[in-house]
Amino acid sequence: MFWIGCHLSSAKGYFAMGRQAAEIGANVFQFFTRNPRGGSVKALDLADIEAFLAFSQEQGFGPLLAHAPYTMNLCAAKPELREFARQTIKEDLTRLELLPDVLFNFHPGSHVKQGSETGITLIADALNDILSEGGKTPVLLETMAGKGSEVGRTFEELRAIIDKTEQKERIGVCLDTCHVYDSGYDILQDLDDVLAEFDSVVGLERLRAIHLNDSKNPIASHKDRHEKIGDGTLGLEGLARVINHPKLRDLPFYLETPNELDGYAREIALLRGQRKEG
Ligand code: FE
Ligand code: FE
Ligand code: ZN
Repeated sequence: MFWIGCHLSSAKGYFAMGRQAAEIGANVFQFFTRNPRGGSVKALDLADIEAFLAFSQEQGFGPLLAHAPYTMNLCAAKPELREFARQTIKEDLTRLELLPDVLFNFHPGSHVKQGSETGITLIADALNDILSEGGKTPVLLETMAGKGSEVGRTFEELRAIIDKTEQKERIGVCLDTCHVYDSGYDILQDLDDVLAEFDSVVGLERLRAIHLNDSKNPIASHKDRHEKIGDGTLGLEGLARVINHPKLRDLPFYLETPNELDGYAREIALLRGQRKEG
């Protein structure tokens, strides 16, 4: 199965997202668990979730990807900001327990001059606290571009976080094609080598999802600027190799390109056209 979809607005609830996904030819989608800048969360609408789950089954949707607000920082310098991030993730994971097939993705954090080692320790401490509350949803660390003091710019940093967490079975990774290229991994010229390196450092079994984005910038720019599929430095050919790679092709792919719905529909159709038989 080719699992392909995009980021959708969660403002109108799960059922509305499901309808939109079906309309644009997607069979998976990503959404923010709450306003991406953080902040409060809407009351859970159980009827909406039930309607979505029935629709999802009918449509044969694959795994949903719930993205944490990108402003929360598990390794912030201020303890109150770290605590806020922990509580936000705990609350999000509790709510996601109602969904049978969902992955939770978050940006590991920014160490803000504390150094990546301190950042890694703080992130792992937070994960140990968060995961001690129980639950089933896999928690994915996103590979980062290395903008500012972002932690997770190398596979080694992700591995270091995982090594320090107790409940390793719930930890996975979401690989963002724009971010890894920006952080210096040449997925355009050496995709096989990059995946071999990921496998030896992190383990491919931890890779659960792909953010499929083109990039506005050359390799190792550390800028994190997504581009439309085919218009960037990775290009359609480069991204077609990603969706067809034998080690990646069964994973769900989520577009986070600068698009409205019609643009996403076109990109999904474009990528379906590039998909080879397994
Ligand atoms: Fe992200
Ligand atoms: Fe991403
Ligand atoms: Zn990004």
